[in-house]
Amino acid sequence: EVITVAELARKMNLKASEIIQKLMDLGVTATINDSLDSDTATLVAQEFNCQVTVRSLKNEVEIHETEDRPEDLKPRIPVVTIMGHVDHGKTKLLDAIRHSNVAEHESGGITQHIGAYKVKTPRGEITFLDTPGHEAFTAMRARGAHVTDIVVLVVSAVEGVMPQTIEALNHAKAAQVPIIVAVNKIDLPEASIDRVKQQLSEQGLLPEEWGGDTMYIPVSALKKIGIEELLEAILLQAEMMELKANPNKPGVGYVVESKMDIGRGAVATVIVKNGSIRIGDYFVVGTTMGRVRGMFDDTGAKVSVAYPSYPVEIMGFDAVPEAGDKFHVVESEDFAKEIVAKRLELKRIEETNRIKKIQMENAFQSLSMENVKELKVIIKADVQGSVEAIKHSLLKIENPEVKISILHAAVGAVLESDVMLAEVSASQEGSAAIILAFRVRADAMAKERAEQQGVTIKRFNIIYEITDYIEGLLKNMQTVEY
Ligand code: GDP
Repeated sequence: EVITVAELARKMNLKASEIIQKLMDLGVTATINDSLDSDTATLVAQEFNCQVTVRSLKNEVEIHETEDRPEDLKPRIPVVTIMGHVDHGKTKLLDAIRHSNVAEHESGGITQHIGAYKVKTPRGEITFLDTPGHEAFTAMRARGAHVTDIVVLVVSAVEGVMPQTIEALNHAKAAQVPIIVAVNKIDLPEASIDRVKQQLSEQGLLPEEWGGDTMYIPVSALKKIGIEELLEAILLQAEMMELKANPNKPGVGYVVESKMDIGRGAVATVIVKNGSIRIGDYFVVGTTMGRVRGMFDDTGAKVSVAYPSYPVEIMGFDAVPEAGDKFHVVESEDFAKEIVAKRLELKRIEETNRIKKIQMENAFQSLSMENVKELKVIIKADVQGSVEAIKHSLLKIENPEVKISILHAAVGAVLESDVMLAEVSASQEGSAAIILAFRVRADAMAKERAEQQGVTIKRFNIIYEITDYIEGLLKNMQTVEY
């Protein structure tokens, strides 16, 4: 394995000159474009407290999933997350939907909160995540767990669009998940459905009846009006998306909730992404393993097979896994043990040899990377006027090679959810993301996460400094050569 000095420097977040200097100390003369053999690279990395053997181990801990042939794919039901501003009725709507469930009336079971539930409608089934809001949504996404197929954005027809409505909308957009709008509280006399449509049209959600492609469904979660129509809209959207999976292979899924249960031990709710999970299956989840000893749905009923998109509470974990962890059914207990042992080793290496991420004072460096085609910007500012002014000035910047897009712009401090949004957005091919904080600070959680994940939060007090900075950044992105 060979690596160039420049590449090694980039991987370790160091300047090439620092590596060259260290190589000289070791008696090796090299220039920035020279390749190093793996021994030399290891040696020099060790000098900086880094280890370069981690990568091969990283490949070994991945569980290989077989590719599905088109003929093996079967339709699967949609997984939905409800988002919206506080008090606009997310919880109430989740309740109303749950109680519309045909199956619930059939089984007469008592509803259990397991983090997700499945409803049966005359036209099909739908899985709902029971933790509403964009924080949980983006936290899962930041961990690579893409479970949501459709977002239902709840907006109160009385209050109209509010800051968190926009925030939720931007998180859903960044995830490229289609949005259906539920205009709630239409039972109240002050309700105005048209105002919501108007306000959201300005955000790019043009209603179908106005020539756009967003479905708006008027509902009252309280009076249970429009629930059936909403479920139908979801199924219609799902149909257009042609959601498919292969139920005839070992199950893969994501943990959405977990806990230690007295009597039952560690349990977790898993949403099946592909394949099926069966009683007796051995599995690996993060650095935990186990065997499926029991599976239950949200009415507490026993389940023997969990198919794609099904949420099930699973018993049989060795330890409590974390929300967002990936769940893999594996062929044997021995294999599960082997993977877990390797993952623990990797974790240990990563912890002891934690690559010292030098906190760049100059964000130019931490952001300079190859092939950036799009710079995604999150703006947090002191007042709405500043938000608008910054947006306006950024949109005026012209650059032939890098597109600037504003992911989210709002009043208030930089929050952890902003950092997560930057993180997941920057991980897309050809993208970089940055948070601009105008006369606001980042809260402690946001700061910590930004440092850990290498997300740049740049603070400003004067608007033109932002434009200068971004222009400089764009220039820099194109001229960086590795
Ligand atoms: P969340 O914060 O978005 O989860 O909102 P909740 O579901 O907790 O609802 C907030 C408040 O709005 C509660 O007092 C609900 O009873 C009320 N509410 C929710 N939906 C409706 C509705 O359709 N009509 C009316 N009149 N009130 C509603």
